[in-house]
Amino acid sequence: MKTRLDTDTVVVGLGAMGSQTLWRLARDGVDAIGVERFAPGHDRGSSHGESRIIRTAYLEGAEYVPFVRAAWRAWDELQEAAQARLVIRSGALMLGRPDSAAVDGSTLAAREHGLACTRLVARELAERHPRHLMRPDEVGVFEEDAGVVLPEPAILAAVRLAREAGARVLTQRAVTRIEPDADHPRVWVGDTEIRARRVVVTAGAWMPRLLPGLADLGGGIRVERRVLGWFPITAPPTHTAGPEPVFARDEPDGTLWYGFPSMDGGRTLKIGVHAESAEVRTAERPRPGAQWGEPVDPDLGPRPPDADDAARLGALAAGLRGVGPLPERMVACMYTMTPDEHFLIGHHDALPGLVLAGGFSGHGFKFASAVGVALADLARDGHTELPIGMFDPHRWDTDGPRRP
Ligand SMILES: Cc1cc2nc3c(=O)[nH]c(=O)nc-3n(C[C@H](O)[C@H](O)[C@H](O)COP(=O)(O)OP(=O)(O)OC[C@H]3O[C@@H](n4cnc5c(N)ncnc54)[C@H](O)[C@@H]3O)c2cc1C
Repeated sequence: MKTRLDTDTVVVGLGAMGSQTLWRLARDGVDAIGVERFAPGHDRGSSHGESRIIRTAYLEGAEYVPFVRAAWRAWDELQEAAQARLVIRSGALMLGRPDSAAVDGSTLAAREHGLACTRLVARELAERHPRHLMRPDEVGVFEEDAGVVLPEPAILAAVRLAREAGARVLTQRAVTRIEPDADHPRVWVGDTEIRARRVVVTAGAWMPRLLPGLADLGGGIRVERRVLGWFPITAPPTHTAGPEPVFARDEPDGTLWYGFPSMDGGRTLKIGVHAESAEVRTAERPRPGAQWGEPVDPDLGPRPPDADDAARLGALAAGLRGVGPLPERMVACMYTMTPDEHFLIGHHDALPGLVLAGGFSGHGFKFASAVGVALADLARDGHTELPIGMFDPHRWDTDGPRRP
């Protein structure tokens, strides 16, 4: 039997971005419905695996810094409202050769925005951060305004607060169709039709499939597999100056990998590969265990981790002192990559009545708090004061982005 629901705004997908959007809308008194195909905080999208890095001196581009600052403020608001600790300030260490993206990119962002970062040469790194086995020509950049965001608790907190503020939440229900329309966009959840003034689409890896035309944006959105591994800590760090920082390390061949302080009282620590070397990226055939380019059908989910993944991550873990070579456990996750690896946030002319946020290219979680504010602004008022111009989904149009 067909059912019809009416509301002001529907949020499709309650992962990192959608959960925060729903909370912001409900908190501001907007009548809103959130729809999630699984249970919030699940492990089948892009937001599971215990921890995400947040850092301010943004190596992906100095132009992100104002948005990260907005995210820090919005995380504080969420923590305050939820009365929960969702962000741990551990500091961050960017490691590599002086001209590597990790070191050079974060240094440039720090310089441009006057951020407090400390440059450390190999000898200083050995003294202060002995976990890392460094080559003599490598350096580090330490930043205090960085740390760990807890993804599953953050999503659960935002959904709980949204409910408490009056949002309706449909879980274990998939949106099967969205009909864009400037005045009356519609969302179908099986036989249930939801009519709204605005629809916010935050469906992560499913987004290119759910929104016609989106998959081809800028030459193609790709969903890729990545694997995280938890390695046993065999010896504690020899320094005692507070928690170990999160880190990202740029290898001489261009592999960019990262890791976290132990989240289980010093038993294990987690590492992952963000980008493989240029050689692997351009190889005709994927190398065993390579964490790059393996396409994923989100309905089937990423291929489970295997021995090749363990060997690939284990080879990187050899760069950490006091860490065993075999992962105790691994999980697979999905990156939704845009061609320029910058996000998609905003309106798209071909999708009237819709606001979208996706293509977070493996570095979006830290911004989820600010994305929630921006999407709620866009849904409610049609515009936002937050600096999201660089994420305009129209940026690949031949006549350039639609808005400044
Ligand atoms: C291994 C890994 C490590 C990462 N590390 C970092 C990091 O250190 N720092 C960082 O900032 N970022 C990191 N990221 C990136 C970050 O986690 C993602 O950018 C972010 O989680 C994406 O959020 P999202 O809301 O777009 O997707 P998701 O959180 O996956 O949310 C999408 C939601 O939509 C739901 N959905 C989909 N289709 C439908 C439908 N039809 N109907 C209803 N619901 C639907 C899904 O079930 C899902 O819950 C990492 C990502 C991965 C995979």
